[in-house]
Amino acid sequence: MVVSSPPRHKTTDFEIANRQFDLAADAMGLDDQIRTLLKKPFRELKVSVPIRLDNGSTRVFLGYRVQHNGARGPFKGGLRFHPDVDLDEVRALAALMTWKTALLHVPFGGGKGGVNCSHKELSLAEKERLTRKFIGRISIILGPNRDIPAPDVGTDAQTMAWIMDSYGRKSGYTPACVTGKPLELGGSVGRDSATGRSTFLVLEEAGKAFGVDPGASTSVIQGFGNAGRWAAHFIHATGAKVLAVSGSKGGLYDPQGLDIPALVEHVRTKHLLDFPQGKKVTNKELLALPCDFLIPAALGGVLHEETARAVNAKFVIEAANAPTTPRADEVFEERGIIVAPDILANAGGVTVSYFEWVQNLQQFFWDADQVDRELRKKLKASWDAVYATHRDKGVALRRAAFMIAIDRVARAEGMRGLE
Ligand code: NAD
Repeated sequence: MVVSSPPRHKTTDFEIANRQFDLAADAMGLDDQIRTLLKKPFRELKVSVPIRLDNGSTRVFLGYRVQHNGARGPFKGGLRFHPDVDLDEVRALAALMTWKTALLHVPFGGGKGGVNCSHKELSLAEKERLTRKFIGRISIILGPNRDIPAPDVGTDAQTMAWIMDSYGRKSGYTPACVTGKPLELGGSVGRDSATGRSTFLVLEEAGKAFGVDPGASTSVIQGFGNAGRWAAHFIHATGAKVLAVSGSKGGLYDPQGLDIPALVEHVRTKHLLDFPQGKKVTNKELLALPCDFLIPAALGGVLHEETARAVNAKFVIEAANAPTTPRADEVFEERGIIVAPDILANAGGVTVSYFEWVQNLQQFFWDADQVDRELRKKLKASWDAVYATHRDKGVALRRAAFMIAIDRVARAEGMRGLE
């Protein structure tokens, strides 16, 4: 029997999340007691997830679910299958969800989960067994009014379908227990593209606010999964150029702009790097390419002090969660590079997840126009609030976003009371 253990501790993701919280809390003059209350996760669950592999052997993975703060509603957050998953990372991502749901004014708290596994090495049948076993072990804290998972790195609509089915076997038909489901099982139109759409909408707003014409702009995107591919699609559709994209093994760069529809079609069946257009670049080189908008859309922590100094973009639009360390934020501020934070730029995913949850509770479905209209409305209102705070208080966009979110959660906590 093989026991998978998490990698040795690499970063202190939760400390980074709390550093961003503290900087905003300082700017707000937030009381120490409420600060401590808001920083501590509400509940953390760690489970072992043993499954039988196709070759008959047994393997034991480690799974986590962290519920950070539920003052504003049920916990909400993705489920990640990746070898780097550990409790610290999940905790940090759960905290980000608290601030993201508050900033977007959707009635959820922050949660996140994950399994420490190399999902690409698992067969579909093994992934299904892993998902069902993991959900079985954490289902006591899940439910449409308690905690609602969604897709993240390494999980997709099929994974969400298994979750709905596993949960339903115990509790009856409950589509609102998970979001990001296939349309056939009560998923929402527009959920698949929602994260990339919000990245694109925030890019447009940021460009307009700071004097760069989005339609005539250039972008570079790290990661070509759900978030990166859709962001590339929407940017390319306006006539703007996507100069480079990458996957885990490196990227492709063409200063004339990549043919994004052809590349999207290509990666359905083939490896990204086998695409005939563009010069091969490493992920490090990609981060330093000259462009208007740099869009990290893969994993956290890729923009640290060293890579931030090499960035050659006017804006960083964060499609990934936590791609920028606090030190890199300082470097960007010194260098006049505008950062549109993750809790705004990738919030389309949780916003359309909210619409999916609403549709599931009512068993009444919206069309694509309605989803698009409501998403734009939410994002525009959030962008306007962040931009106004940035201007009025003279703080960077991330700090402004955190200040708005922290204020909303602090008010909700205060009204609930401690007893
Ligand atoms: P995904 O699994 O669909 O895609 C991840 C992409 O990153 C793939 O192209 C992969 O090849 C690439 N990648 C992995 N390791 C890399 C590395 N070391 N360097 C460069 N690229 C690498 O995942 P996703 O859903 O697109 O999520 C990407 C990011 O967006 C994550 O940070 C996630 O938390 C965030 N996010 C996703 C959603 C969503 O709805 N999917 C919502 C909010 C935030």
